[in-house]
Amino acid sequence: MIILKPDTTEDQVQLVVARVRELGLTPHVSRGKERIVIGVVGEARRVEPGVFRHLPGVDDVVPISRPYKLTSREFHPENTLVRVGPVTFGGTDIVIIAGPCSVESRSQLLETAHAVKEAGAQMLRGGAFKPRTSPYSFQGLGEKGLEYLAEAREVTGLPVVTEVMAPEQVPLVARYADMLQIGARNMQNYPLLKAAGRMGKPILLKRGMGATVTEWLLAAEYILSEGNWQVVMCERGIRTFETSTRNTTDINAIPVLKRATHLPVILDPSHSTGHWEYVTPIARAAIAAGADGLIVEVHPRPEEALSDGGQSLKPERFAQMVREVRAIAQIVREVQAALVPAGGGPNGR
Ligand code: PEP
Ligand code: MN
Repeated sequence: MIILKPDTTEDQVQLVVARVRELGLTPHVSRGKERIVIGVVGEARRVEPGVFRHLPGVDDVVPISRPYKLTSREFHPENTLVRVGPVTFGGTDIVIIAGPCSVESRSQLLETAHAVKEAGAQMLRGGAFKPRTSPYSFQGLGEKGLEYLAEAREVTGLPVVTEVMAPEQVPLVARYADMLQIGARNMQNYPLLKAAGRMGKPILLKRGMGATVTEWLLAAEYILSEGNWQVVMCERGIRTFETSTRNTTDINAIPVLKRATHLPVILDPSHSTGHWEYVTPIARAAIAAGADGLIVEVHPRPEEALSDGGQSLKPERFAQMVREVRAIAQIVREVQAALVPAGGGPNGR
């Protein structure tokens, strides 16, 4: 990490960038409010930091101690805002994404899209390519499902997020979707992470069900290192010995991530619990813990759903959840504004 002096000129920045490239490394310029930092990635071990230290404008050269670099708050202290059309993740307002697990038909999707918009969702979800555990389960409508999603966006104005499962599918899915979802089962599919990163669309990166926070951040690092910083991290529960819920919500991961990375963090309480009764309480907990938003499965008739009906909320229950979590978000903001930490600051105890 090359830290530049506050009065560094653009020509000096470009000179450092050129020197980094000459050495076969990749520069990533981060322009914060207080300083400009150039992240240098590649096999930096081979390069002596001293080669940058004497260039004009350079204040200091320090190693990033975490295994993930561009993703770390050490490198980029300010929150990254991820923009999907009119929606912003990582700002003061929480973002709620909702929709069916799978796009099942045109009418099911349009009905759900109108209902979630009415309830206050800002984005629409829906799987067209489904990563099902069994090859005999409904696999999704494929491109037809993408067409229905695009139509639902036209009529509701809600931007759309949908899953992409393979590197070769990325251009197709990106033609229809506003944000690409990389699912839990593909979190460590490195060719997919790279292909999605190169596409330049915002990405929703779900946590692998057996992945540590560090492995998850390293997966995000693949996307950032392709030059795409528009990544939202989505906790969706991890596998533990507990069997009373489908997964175990790792609420800890929310503040852990908020500290470790500048990227926005949201929770999927549908997959993390697997039961509609637990979705609202866990959604409330996530917002109280500092999550930047939620992604929730909603179906007008969950008993008829082709996937994940048991964890899907009906529209009326979803509307109630939205009211509750927005009230909590408001309280969190007020409490944080009122209780300015004495001394110490955010890192003090
Ligand atoms: C989904 O969002 O429908 C999904 C399959 O989620 P996950 O990848 O978290 O299992
Ligand atoms: Mn699902």
